[in-house]
Amino acid sequence: MRKFALHEIGSGFERAYRLLVCSPLGRRTLDQFLPLLSHAQVEIRVLDERTQAELATGNLLQGDPAGAFCFDGVKRTIFIEPGLETGLLAPLLFHEMIHCLDEDYLKSFSKNEANWGSLRARAKALIIQDPAKLTQAHLSEVAALKREAEALDHQRLFMTERKAHKATYWVVQELVDAIEGYRFYVSRQKKIGFDLNQWVSEAEIIRKYGLNPNVLEGIRTSAQSHPFLVPEAA
Ligand SMILES: [Zn+2]
Repeated sequence: MRKFALHEIGSGFERAYRLLVCSPLGRRTLDQFLPLLSHAQVEIRVLDERTQAELATGNLLQGDPAGAFCFDGVKRTIFIEPGLETGLLAPLLFHEMIHCLDEDYLKSFSKNEANWGSLRARAKALIIQDPAKLTQAHLSEVAALKREAEALDHQRLFMTERKAHKATYWVVQELVDAIEGYRFYVSRQKKIGFDLNQWVSEAEIIRKYGLNPNVLEGIRTSAQSHPFLVPEAA
């Protein structure tokens, strides 16, 4: 068991990386994440009131209690609350790192944009039309486009949150085994609203992110297997 300054507060993320490398999964993830950061393919920014309001207006934000991930099709940005202790900063930052490295989530961005684009264009075309000429078929068509766009939205979000929560749970378990007092530290966070030591069920993800369970049928199993969770080769 190693000792670590879990309560440290300071600027910069180096202290969180130093904690994360104490876990094999944390180390593997940082090996993928840090090169992106040094090549400016990812940016980490402070999540304050202003950025929160700014992001809430777009459809690009994926919010968690003290962090968020934003992808605009090109740029990946992680937002993280300032002033967190290292013991809490590390797993929360790690959660956002998993979103950041989630190729399925990133790849489905353009399809998602295209879906919402078709819906907007069709709805706009119908609005400028003479209302007397609107038929039930028009309305059903718009409703179908909306269902399709929402379904992919919810599926992407579900998949990426399933991965991030699962990986974070795993990294916390590894840190509990590696770092002296981390189990106690984590149980203390529970009192202030972060229960990192607890497995997050699918039902909780659905509730937490306001997802429609009807559009998630059939994709749940694929969320179970994620490359980050494949045990390291011996
Ligand atoms: Zn998340």
